[in-house]
Amino acid sequence: MRAVVFPNVHRFEVADVAEPEVRAGWLTVQVGAAGICGTDLHILDGEFPMAKFPCIPGHEFAGTVVGVGPEVTGFQLGDRVGVMPSVFCGRCHWCRNGRGNLCPDAGGFGTSLPGGFAERVAVLATHAYRLPDRLSFAEAALVEPLACVVHAFHRLNPRPGERYLIWGAGTMGLMLAQYARFAGARTVALIDINRSKLDRARTFGFEALGVSYEEVRDRGPFGFDNVIEATGVPAVVEDASESVTPGGRLLLFGVCPPGVRASLEPYRIYRDEIDIIGSMAVYDSYEPALDAMASGAIDGRRMVSHTFDLERFGDAVDAVRSGEGMKVQIVPGS
Ligand SMILES: [Zn+2]
Ligand SMILES: [Zn+2]
Repeated sequence: MRAVVFPNVHRFEVADVAEPEVRAGWLTVQVGAAGICGTDLHILDGEFPMAKFPCIPGHEFAGTVVGVGPEVTGFQLGDRVGVMPSVFCGRCHWCRNGRGNLCPDAGGFGTSLPGGFAERVAVLATHAYRLPDRLSFAEAALVEPLACVVHAFHRLNPRPGERYLIWGAGTMGLMLAQYARFAGARTVALIDINRSKLDRARTFGFEALGVSYEEVRDRGPFGFDNVIEATGVPAVVEDASESVTPGGRLLLFGVCPPGVRASLEPYRIYRDEIDIIGSMAVYDSYEPALDAMASGAIDGRRMVSHTFDLERFGDAVDAVRSGEGMKVQIVPGS
């Protein structure tokens, strides 16, 4: 079968590879759609230690069951499934204390195991979720990034009717904003230095938009209850920390480069009782994300801006790196 292979850092090819084996407890999934995300580019650039080369990337995918291994119950050929790609060791301190995404041996499909940028992929049956008929594969492949958003909200633990400010109106910022609305927000404001991203956010029904905090600050007269940093730029973390209302929360969702520091005012965090919260990847959030996607919380169809065949993976990477569109997906055979 055909698959995208990263033989080593900075290199990719579309190559013939062996068919996945149908092992006990595993399914083979014919990939219907697989999204590219920043992590895939980090793997390609050698900035993601969890990945093992050679690597078949792709961790945001959905498709059709075409192989059912021995001892699998609950799935049959032809089932449409989404896949929770993270695989935790199950034995370490964090896995045994309900914090599996912090597992030092975490890996998964598309990182330490072959992933979804292929015609077919082997997955643990325990990680497959049957899709409602109304969800397309394109929408279902958005469930994994949405599961990151849902996990972030579990960490944030907001209250109904609160004000949100999201720094960064890229694909994830827009998904966070839609989920905030779904989660009962009173106000959702977005900041981005790129006006075209704000114009795009407007088409998703958001109207508290600005290129700077000044342009949205009247939407949160005392600051915002929930401030979500979704750019991964340390200077933005500093600005974002200033926009939290006393008693509010700052959620760090964007991925800043390791080792880089930002400057916050400890006195303010003390006096105003600001919660600073980190959120990384997914944990117990795939199923609620699938349910939210199926309920229409996220306009999944409009979140996908580009679709490419497997053979055109290079064009797909260029589309991601251009930063112009939203989610770019690979659809084998398209
Ligand atoms: Zn991803
Ligand atoms: Zn573990």
